[in-house]
Amino acid sequence: MAVRAPLPPGSTIGIFGGGQLGRMLAMSALQLGYRCIGYAPAGDNVAAEACAGFFEHHWNDREAVSAFAARCDVVTWEFENVPVAAVEAIPADRLPTSARALEVAQDRLSEKRFVEDLGGRAAPHLRIDSEEDFARALESIGTPGILKTAREGYDGKGQWRVRDRHEAQGIRFPGRRCIYERLVGFESEFSVILVRAADGEIRFWDSTANTHEGGMLVQSVLPAGEWVEAQVDEARALAGKVADALSYVGVLTLEFFATGDGPVFNEMAPRVHNSGHWTIEGAATSQFENHIRAICGLPLGETATRFATIDMRNIVGEQALGAHRILAEEGEPHLHLYGKREAREGRKMGHVTRVGARLG
Ligand code: AMP
Repeated sequence: MAVRAPLPPGSTIGIFGGGQLGRMLAMSALQLGYRCIGYAPAGDNVAAEACAGFFEHHWNDREAVSAFAARCDVVTWEFENVPVAAVEAIPADRLPTSARALEVAQDRLSEKRFVEDLGGRAAPHLRIDSEEDFARALESIGTPGILKTAREGYDGKGQWRVRDRHEAQGIRFPGRRCIYERLVGFESEFSVILVRAADGEIRFWDSTANTHEGGMLVQSVLPAGEWVEAQVDEARALAGKVADALSYVGVLTLEFFATGDGPVFNEMAPRVHNSGHWTIEGAATSQFENHIRAICGLPLGETATRFATIDMRNIVGEQALGAHRILAEEGEPHLHLYGKREAREGRKMGHVTRVGARLG
């Protein structure tokens, strides 16, 4: 997108998606004098509470998407599985980043190919369209590995771990396009989160070490440790190339495994990210605020970390019911609850960020 004049206060930001990321984006937008309008299919759209209006319609309701677009000065998304057609229905002058970023990131095969073409390295993998392909992939890639649906998997859903040949016999091809990839032996997992402005300026936040359980992020910490620190420059260089290649505007996340052979790319999210929630209190400017700044043409904020240690943990399922107890802890824990109505098992309900000594 061409660099354009900053959006004046009072302008309206449209957000596709209704989850906690949209809620926190809208909270930052409000602080900067903007109002937000959301769009998502009916559901527990917790972003709606922070929005001045909310369209609850199917993604493919062209009339509703047009009516939504007509009320917005700029449109962004908080959910990477927004159908590309819905985003393409938005006039280009209101889209800081084109739907191409979504198109690439929505498919595990295409995002790996895209990143490999830019010089990145992913785990050995093969496309799986049938039971026979799966058998061939087990043969050539070997075990342990992971079978993943190519599209729409998240938080460990749509994934089957294959420890050995014996276990593979119990796993059936699920009938839609998948990817089989070798399990990477890693020392640490980390994410590179950057913000890119329309003029091409890029800023990075510090990379946390991330811990996942059952495929879902549970914790992000700083300092991230020597493995991450030694590999973050290479990972950043790659993430910057990805952002440039997509003419990306806003916050972009790439996830990596830190291995004995350097950083291995896992996946990308063309949006703010769970592993960046610590930036709300822990960095000079949060990922949410910088995303809003970037898409509205405002100057980017500093991304420096403000504390010697950071520990962000997700609050999952029924943990949320007693979460207010955290407020009584020493050391000013920063609690965020997303207002979700049902504390279902495995559902991200909130997070808490604990910080150490202030830097500087
Ligand atoms: P994903 O949905 O691809 O981000 O996977 C979720 C999590 O599962 C990752 O953050 C890792 O902890 C684990 N995982 C996924 N793919 C691999 C892999 N090829 N090797 C090792 N761990 C993996």
